[in-house]
Amino acid sequence: MKFPSEPFKIKVVEPIKRTSREERDRLLREAGYNLFHVPAGSVYVDLLTDSGTSAMSDHQWAGMMLGDESYAGSKNYYHFESVVRSIFGYRHVIPTHQGRMAEHLLFSTVVKPGMYVLNNIHFDTTRANVEHQGAEALDLVVKEAYDPHCELPFKGDMDVSRLEETINRVGRERIPLVMVTVTNNSGGGQPVSMENIRRTRALLNRYGIPLVFDACRFAENCFFIKEREAGYKDTPVREIARELFSYGDGCIMSAKKDGLVNIGGFLSLNDDRWAEGITNMLILVEGFPTYGGLAGRDLEAMARGLEEVLDEEYLRFRIGQVRYLGEMLEGGGVPILKPIGGHAVYLNAREFLPLIPQGQFPAQALAVALYREYGIRGVEIGTVMFGKRDPVTGETHYPELELVRLAIPRRVYTNMQITYVAESIADLFTHRDSIGGLVMTYEAPLLRHFTARFEECASIVTK
Ligand SMILES: *Cc1c(COP(=O)(O)O)cnc(C)c1O
Repeated sequence: MKFPSEPFKIKVVEPIKRTSREERDRLLREAGYNLFHVPAGSVYVDLLTDSGTSAMSDHQWAGMMLGDESYAGSKNYYHFESVVRSIFGYRHVIPTHQGRMAEHLLFSTVVKPGMYVLNNIHFDTTRANVEHQGAEALDLVVKEAYDPHCELPFKGDMDVSRLEETINRVGRERIPLVMVTVTNNSGGGQPVSMENIRRTRALLNRYGIPLVFDACRFAENCFFIKEREAGYKDTPVREIARELFSYGDGCIMSAKKDGLVNIGGFLSLNDDRWAEGITNMLILVEGFPTYGGLAGRDLEAMARGLEEVLDEEYLRFRIGQVRYLGEMLEGGGVPILKPIGGHAVYLNAREFLPLIPQGQFPAQALAVALYREYGIRGVEIGTVMFGKRDPVTGETHYPELELVRLAIPRRVYTNMQITYVAESIADLFTHRDSIGGLVMTYEAPLLRHFTARFEECASIVTK
């Protein structure tokens, strides 16, 4: 079989609305051609993000009815704590309402101005939280990660020699911790190999620097290790995860990804002094340490989700579904980022729309066309999100890549809906000459992609 069919059946359905092209055209004009301003109820297949969009299982929903909403020492906390300890293996388990709060608590406790945090690639909230402490966030992924055509099995790997050079250059005492993000979200959902993690650990041991994982998609990463790395073919994913985390001193996690929940996160680590500082801060900004900004029922859903995500039937379907979409698109000649990642397929907008100059936002134009023609919502990852304006000259510095990310929510869409997406995009590709560029008419000083507004360019650029 080319790809595995769904390892679940559907018990509850949420109807989705079909809209007409005219309606979507009007909604786009009202939204200033910014898809963040299109109501979700008017989207047919929503691939904006895989974060917090998972479908929970009947077992998780049943667990929500067992929520113990005691302020302190809720029984769901103890269940959650034992599940996290058994998978990740660290002593302290600190719940938070989502991933970025775990980042904020960790960095505000251990990172000081003038310090450096090194990572394969920082996710945007991770970078922002490092910089918020007056420290610098450096990305040290292998250089192939920036080439959309280079196919490596573990394109999320840390460049260990650059890591060593950087430690020697800035000084060990200015590096409170090194992070490894599994899978590497900002680099296309690419996995990190066990071998690379082992080498990273060995290097950090020589300098006495702690290693903390950004574990949002740990199960997807471990499944790739099982599929691709020598020696792991017959190892259960759960054991692969145990080994992976054994090389670290702790982790932060947004459970909105591989926790299979709609809200939740945590921090888990061994160091008693760090845990004490973080817990004190948690009480100040998030809540008592046995609920950390969540209801007891949310902790229960998270505990059950973390167990379910390690089910290999589920993971084979999950990774298989994303790969299926990527392969269908490739079959239709559509340019995508290679290899296909764990949680998303990325359209290469520069190659899809070579006639639209970068100043006219080709990836945004492609995302707009996808919604207008087919009701599919992706997200621009290109000049709108990462283009930086020079504060003096006002000139834009363009990013390397112009991408539209199609992130697949977990257990939400059937393979038929994914087929619809693939066929729609292949169809759009044959009509790509009808897509014109955009002009930006409003931008906020920070994180402009959320609120920017656009208009369509008066004329379509032609050869
Ligand atoms: C989503 C994400 C975060 C932040 O988590 P939130 O739950 O969105 O706050 C951090 N790191 C990575 C790699 C992520 O994907």
